[in-house]
Amino acid sequence: MIDVIDLKKNYGGHEVLKGINVTINRGDIVVVLGPSGSGKSTFLRCLNCMEDPSSGKVVFNGVDIADMSVNINIHRRRMGMVFQHFNLFNNKTVVQNIMMAPVYVQCQELRRAKRSNMRTLLLNLFRGASKKVPLEEISVSKKQIIAQARKQALDLLKRIGLEDKADVYPSTLSGGQKQRVAIIRSMAMNPDVILFDEPTSALDPEMVGEVLDLMKALALEGMTMIIVTHEMGFAKEVANRILFMDDGVILESAPPEEFFSHPKHPRLKDFLSKVL
Ligand code: ATP
Ligand code: MG
Repeated sequence: MIDVIDLKKNYGGHEVLKGINVTINRGDIVVVLGPSGSGKSTFLRCLNCMEDPSSGKVVFNGVDIADMSVNINIHRRRMGMVFQHFNLFNNKTVVQNIMMAPVYVQCQELRRAKRSNMRTLLLNLFRGASKKVPLEEISVSKKQIIAQARKQALDLLKRIGLEDKADVYPSTLSGGQKQRVAIIRSMAMNPDVILFDEPTSALDPEMVGEVLDLMKALALEGMTMIIVTHEMGFAKEVANRILFMDDGVILESAPPEEFFSHPKHPRLKDFLSKVL
């Protein structure tokens, strides 16, 4: 699904990613571990086009995402992202936060369909066949799009037991609730993969469990996930592969059992001795 080939990223003269090579398959739950500053967040940001790689390639579903013809909005739709700090819009209600991206995208598609229909209409008029315009493709209205998106958002909220919070503002939610809303918001676009950058590290300890449980449930449903986290228990239990990044490269990639019981690289051994 995702092929990362010799990915490099420099900031000025500082080389932050020094050649990342990794393949992510559908259904993979990949946890990325590594010391602070090793390039984990930069790596995720390169995957979803928040940063342009300095060199190398990210091939997603067979398409090089650096290709100028790739529509960045369509790409991001297929790749959800959840950050450490919830990134909900505080001036929108919970349900509006979840609906926003799907409504935006579908309204854009509606406009595009209307434009192309207008062209067909004009073309047909020109040919003297004004009544033969296929209108069914734009029979959906903006109102219907919004109603449908709201229903989907409420279903997602129900799933995490927060349907009664639909019309409140995020500032009234706990950190754990905010982060769970951020996760279902990313699901509202039906992405192929969700990237998580330390989704629990800004939470009070008692709220970490509820967020990890939701992520675990997603994993069991077969969602493809790439997760930067320091939650070793979660990594052991849920990941099918763990990557260890240090100084801009992946030094080790192994299933959890092997990763924790038989680390090979001395730097990984040292890292594990400090965090376990
Ligand atoms: P942490 O565990 O602390 O989140 P990280 O592994 O996610 O660390 P990155 O945030 O990817 O690390 O940063 C890697 C290096 O790149 C750091 O030295 C950082 O200072 C540098 N860096 C990251 N973003 C930028 C930027 N926009 N401009 C310049 N340098 C940057
Ligand atoms: Mg980071």
